[in-house]
Amino acid sequence: MPPEARALLEEAIAVVCTQAKLDPKSSVAIDEMQARPSLPIHHPDAVAGAERAQKLLPIAKTLVIESLRQLVVDYNLQSSSRFDRRVQQAIARVSAVKRVRPDMESRDNASVFLSKPQVITFGTIFLAGLRSDEGMISVLAHELMHIADGDNDSLRTLVAAIGNKASELTGLDLSGQRGEEITCDLIGAMAVRAYVGDTPGYESIARRLARSVQHNCVEIDEGDEDHLSPRNTIRALLALHPVMVKELINDREERAQPRKQ
Ligand SMILES: [Zn+2]
Repeated sequence: MPPEARALLEEAIAVVCTQAKLDPKSSVAIDEMQARPSLPIHHPDAVAGAERAQKLLPIAKTLVIESLRQLVVDYNLQSSSRFDRRVQQAIARVSAVKRVRPDMESRDNASVFLSKPQVITFGTIFLAGLRSDEGMISVLAHELMHIADGDNDSLRTLVAAIGNKASELTGLDLSGQRGEEITCDLIGAMAVRAYVGDTPGYESIARRLARSVQHNCVEIDEGDEDHLSPRNTIRALLALHPVMVKELINDREERAQPRKQ
């Protein structure tokens, strides 16, 4: 990555994590969520989060399908009829998702059991910690992308291409499951960006976009075999999306450019 692009990237990360402190609806950082006591399912914050998630699920599904189609074009996979069939099946799996299930034991995680692919299980701490529509759509879209990929990793060609590109740009290791996780995060950010474009409001674009990734603004920055560390997740994601880097830096009040249909 050229030094200028890298500097812009770091500036955009700073915007995201500064907004985490300034924005009353910012998403709580994962490490802070992890330190919290479990939240009962009927706690008002968990109930409000579950209602928000269920309300936004249909929109998130539509935005994931659009973003997935966009990535197929961006990564030049549209001419393969075999891959196209896989994408159609992935879209059918996303369309079939019906419900968010709040779960106290899942704490600060959301997950999908591929034996039950119509349900997204969502920890109550996580439901309460994502305090904006943008934050919630980003995580819903992430889980929907896991469902799209399915239990046979049927989108692995796309996932590998995205992982390789992020590796080339950042020098970070994005092999194996890490490639899928960053692809899910990218779909999450794309979904939020489209949502922001579709629902103009009085808040700045940068503030709203920042919510798509700011649960990664941690103090304790640790990854594992399957995931980059949270701060490197923001780094890899924004490296893949230079337009979003620009939008975060140009903290504009006006509407985002309308998307091409
Ligand atoms: Zn994931």
